[in-house]
Amino acid sequence: MISSLRIGTFRSCAADRGAMEPAENPLIIGAGPAGLTAAIGLVNGGMSPRIYEASGDIGGLARTPTSGDWRVDPGGHRFFTRSEEISAIWRSLLPADQWISVRRRSAMLVDGHYVRYPLHGGDLVSQLGFRSGMHGMGNFFWSRLRRALRPMDHSASFRDWGIEQFGRHWYELFFDGYVRKTWLTDPDKLASDWANQRIKPISWRVRRHHTNPDAFRYPRRGPGQLWEAAAQYLANFGVVPSLNSQVVAVRHQGSRWTVELQNGETASGDAVFSSMPLRLLIDVLEPAPPQHIREIAANLRHRSLITVAVALRERYDIPYNWVYTPGRNFRVGRIQNYDRWSSELAPKNWNGTYLGLEYFTHPDDDLWVASNESLSDTVQEDLRALGVSGSALEHVMIVRSQFAYPINDPERENSVAEIRDYLRRSHPSLHPMGRNGMHHYDNQDHAMLSAMRSVDQYFGANVDPWQVNTDLEYHESGLMKS
Ligand SMILES: Cc1cc2nc3c(=O)[nH]c(=O)nc-3n(C[C@H](O)[C@H](O)[C@H](O)COP(=O)(O)OP(=O)(O)OC[C@H]3O[C@@H](n4cnc5c(N)ncnc54)[C@H](O)[C@@H]3O)c2cc1C
Repeated sequence: MISSLRIGTFRSCAADRGAMEPAENPLIIGAGPAGLTAAIGLVNGGMSPRIYEASGDIGGLARTPTSGDWRVDPGGHRFFTRSEEISAIWRSLLPADQWISVRRRSAMLVDGHYVRYPLHGGDLVSQLGFRSGMHGMGNFFWSRLRRALRPMDHSASFRDWGIEQFGRHWYELFFDGYVRKTWLTDPDKLASDWANQRIKPISWRVRRHHTNPDAFRYPRRGPGQLWEAAAQYLANFGVVPSLNSQVVAVRHQGSRWTVELQNGETASGDAVFSSMPLRLLIDVLEPAPPQHIREIAANLRHRSLITVAVALRERYDIPYNWVYTPGRNFRVGRIQNYDRWSSELAPKNWNGTYLGLEYFTHPDDDLWVASNESLSDTVQEDLRALGVSGSALEHVMIVRSQFAYPINDPERENSVAEIRDYLRRSHPSLHPMGRNGMHHYDNQDHAMLSAMRSVDQYFGANVDPWQVNTDLEYHESGLMKS
């Protein structure tokens, strides 16, 4: 099962390298997709990396927390990629019978109507009433005309981008409130570079009602199943991540790196692969980077996510995997309907409704610090707004992800580039990788690719991991990700 991964996927230059110099062993910070992928690449190249993971889980943001037979996917992780390299790794790690194909069906719940997402022109005109439809059409065609006369540049704010794409009425109905709620910022202050990748334009093709050809792959027992399989693969080589091992200092001396853990233990190696948030890496790096670099790193920000998984005894048939809730009547930003992801997220023969409510928040705001009791009041109100509050609760699980989203703002790109250039110059054997490691809005495939290119670089290849996911055309085949 693994051999294709060993021979086909990862470059293996360690044998040549090992012949020239004694093998040293790299240190890896984080056992999420990037950290585990780097470890597999290093192991396949003959190294024995050590992995330090702050939490008690394997899989990072793509973990699957469990409680008895209940499983939670904290974000609703679709597995899709354009990269054959990545597909091959996924297939190698999990046997075919552990993957299911899930039809993607999303909707926006607006003014009590479920409107399919990606948006279809026909629904917009017919579902929300004649006046709203005509208003939307008029605005849409006006924005098209303006675009033809004066194309927008890449530095446009999200609001300008959205109005240009959808026309003011539909932008305000579907996107403005949603983006405020999920990005926790004014859309005028939000860059739009990510939007082309993540938000699909309105489709005007005539389609049969409720058909949607998109499907994605999904591990039967949630995304963490794949990463637990990756950890199992590594265990065959004696590489076992140290869990509950937060790295609190990263020191460079001569050609050696030393990481220090919260409990005071240290470990040394010839390189560091880091998927910890870039801001925190700069903060714990010794010798301390110049003041200017520390200042811009300190300004890199994240959004956090609280996923509340709620099992209701009553069966409500919601025919979507995702329901986006842009309106002010909801505090929740998006709702996962786990029944439509995989039946194995719930106990066998469960016949109720299993939902995951996603609350986007800042690490220091009210919701993040709210007690479970006051969070449960908010959840109850949202269930009422969804129209499913009549049912008794069978099970509730709360999953918090502090560094869920690296925030996109106009300054981010320049700051990250300055930090990147500083690290390249001063510490070529320190490899930031992955979503938070590079402060880049990556999915799993890109987090993995940046790890793989970093491993290639470690083995001497002339590649640039920072070039991963800079393609504006990459499209999430229709999903609007928050
Ligand atoms: C709501 C949501 C939905 C998503 N949906 C999708 C999707 O549909 N498809 C998809 O492919 N991707 C999706 N993603 C993105 C995916 O989760 C990430 O791209 C991926 O997990 C990034 O992997 P990573 O290893 O770079 O980072 P992470 O997953 O963040 O892993 C980093 C690890 O490092 C550990 N760490 C941090 N600091 C330290 C420290 N000081 N010491 C030791 N360990 C440390 C963390 O605990 C963590 O385990 C989604 C993410 C979210 C939040």
